[in-house]
Amino acid sequence: MSARPTDPLPGTPARALTAPQKALRKLGLVRDIDLALHLPLRYEDETRIVRLRDAREGDVVQIEAVVTACEVNHRPRRQLLVTVDDGSDACVLRFFSFYPAQQKALTVGTRIRVRGEVRGGFMGKAMMHPSFRAAGGELPTALTPVYSTGAGLPQAYLRRAVATGLARADLSETLAADILNKNGLIPAWSLRDALLFLHHPTPDVAMAQLEDRSHPAWQRLKAEELLAQQLSQLTARRERAHLRAPVLVPGPVPMQGVSPAQPERESPYPEPGRSSSGQSAPLHQQLLAALPFALTGAQRRVGDEIARDLARPVPMHRLLQGDVGSGKTVVAALAAARAIDAGWQCALMAPTEILAEQHFRKLIGWLEPLGIRVAWLTGSQKKKERRAMLELIASGEAALVVGTHAVIQEQVKFRRLALAIIDEQHRFGVAQRLALRSKMGSGSGEMIEEPLAPGTPGATDGPGAHARALVAAMEPHLLMMTATPIPRTLAMSYYADLDVSTLDELPPGRTPVITKVVSDRRRDEVIQRIRGQLAQERQVYWVCPLIEESEALDLGNATATHAELSAALPGVLVGLLHSRMAPAEKKAVMSLFSDGLMGVLVSTTVIEVGVDVPNASLMVIEHAERFGLSQLHQLRGRVGRGAAASACVLLYSQPEGGRLSEASRERLKAMAGTHDGFEIARRDLEIRGPGEFLGARQSGAALLRFADLATDTALLEWARALAPRMLDQHPDLARRHIARWLGGKSEFLKA
Ligand code: ADP
Ligand code: MG
Repeated sequence: MSARPTDPLPGTPARALTAPQKALRKLGLVRDIDLALHLPLRYEDETRIVRLRDAREGDVVQIEAVVTACEVNHRPRRQLLVTVDDGSDACVLRFFSFYPAQQKALTVGTRIRVRGEVRGGFMGKAMMHPSFRAAGGELPTALTPVYSTGAGLPQAYLRRAVATGLARADLSETLAADILNKNGLIPAWSLRDALLFLHHPTPDVAMAQLEDRSHPAWQRLKAEELLAQQLSQLTARRERAHLRAPVLVPGPVPMQGVSPAQPERESPYPEPGRSSSGQSAPLHQQLLAALPFALTGAQRRVGDEIARDLARPVPMHRLLQGDVGSGKTVVAALAAARAIDAGWQCALMAPTEILAEQHFRKLIGWLEPLGIRVAWLTGSQKKKERRAMLELIASGEAALVVGTHAVIQEQVKFRRLALAIIDEQHRFGVAQRLALRSKMGSGSGEMIEEPLAPGTPGATDGPGAHARALVAAMEPHLLMMTATPIPRTLAMSYYADLDVSTLDELPPGRTPVITKVVSDRRRDEVIQRIRGQLAQERQVYWVCPLIEESEALDLGNATATHAELSAALPGVLVGLLHSRMAPAEKKAVMSLFSDGLMGVLVSTTVIEVGVDVPNASLMVIEHAERFGLSQLHQLRGRVGRGAAASACVLLYSQPEGGRLSEASRERLKAMAGTHDGFEIARRDLEIRGPGEFLGARQSGAALLRFADLATDTALLEWARALAPRMLDQHPDLARRHIARWLGGKSEFLKA
């Protein structure tokens, strides 16, 4: 029989699989344990036969009855009408599609078992398309599971597959007895018992407990899942502690750890400020002195945290989170300066070309006067320019490389990359972060041959042996930046392998942005307000929403608004920016705006991140109800960057003839009520759940299937406390636990 769908080995090529096997694989149901952990969506109760007289309208019931009539009707449309009677009452079964074989099975006098939803009506009870089979046979003793399935995968096949997987999977205990005993949180259910129960619960179970997952069997599963996640994060963290990274301190190379090949002697850079006298201040101090402002306390503190990490021979893995406008760029520049001071290269990657370009301009402005060469890499670059840039990077002449995803492409070879900085990290996927981390050894061939300083861990194995290990183990320091702060529970669960620095202070002199929620019907007043700002030589953003289903509609909307505003504001340059424009075009529009020549910039969400034009004082967001909270917060952060009083208008439109939903209204009100990015992120998480919050691109990271971070904080704390003990005391069990729950996916959690 075909009921052993788990039989093909995981490596079997897809063409050798049957359609249902392919469908199983598509659902990620490959190993026995995957099937065992595929829990029912809901249950059907087939354990009882109900008397028709006791069945009420809306009940889903199972009856046994005799067919008393069976006929095909053609009015109002072709249908098979079957009347059954169980002695207590009669019921009409109605089928709109049917096969001759079914018709035959329903001949008058046959006794059948029927399952379906009872409907009332003045003609008496009825069921539409019920399932049925011959009466008799034993009744199941447990509820029947209904699983989520996919195309080409019949429920019955999936049920058999899950049953097989459940029977064969290794469900042995991974939580050592001493751990279980010490903890009151874990109920007396074993994983095996919990799974057996959840797939086939007894009919007396309190349904509500299964539905809200408060049942002890569910608690056990959630605890296991959270523990697996904590264990894998902690493992990644500990593995990282064994990796080596360049020690980034200025001046003489320290004896400890891995260091560049004598930068004093062969550094390819002009050695800013040090070249003539050999005495001048390090680059980062020169940069500090050249900045037109003093750092905030938060920037100084975070800068120190980063400097401490960079001075260690272990790769930094740090997230810098700071609200929009908190001044992350300069912190990044100072970190880059430290890498350059030590004779190494730094790469800065941003998610969009506009943002990368803005960083590039700013960093050039800061660093080139100090004698530092900055290279620029994007996808849209001309071949010739690109080749020149690649040269600069490979030779090490460019100490800093700024760009988009182009930075992680294969052809890009760094001479000696030591620090990688990712701006707006949530916009990058896991694979991209991994790629950046692997950029290290690519151009630093000479380092491999370098004998190690005595006392370096591993140096006793003989230089050759260690050198090979070194190539694999060297990584650049990694600094990730985000303006969407990560709520605590999320940080605890998904970013446990990350150190977090927080900029919790805005630069002085900012006036808070006033936020107004305004109906679309008052558009004219909003345009009047724009005139007011323009009269004061200020600039205005107008953001049109992204319409997911249709890029064309999206564009149409922005174009129409652009025309409308151009007409309403004669003599004012109104620009348009959208994602379909060529990079050069975007760039031209953006520079007109940042140079102050353009009064109003109409745009789709391409300006969402990072754009910095301090003279802009008004942000209008159309269809604000369609945006996520964090996104609104980001957009709002584009204004209020200078000293001028700034405002953000959240325009919403009433749906045809209706009112804005209560939830949307609440969200917009929340936006108007708070400026705290942390508070907004917390609410956003509540509303959207971690999957969406982290962004679709993060889906490589095994998100929680069973546990819910909003409600299972106690279990999360439990798992977090337990993970280190388990890794120390029961490493084998820990490994098995991770493999069981995450399989091949645990790699992703390391990025
Ligand atoms: P974000 O954290 O959103 O990336 P930016 O780095 O773009 O913020 O900084 C926002 C603005 O604040 C920029 O114009 C930047 O030059 C300015 N800025 C940064 N730090 C300070 C400071 N300590 N004092 C005054 N202005 C600052
Ligand atoms: Mg920024």
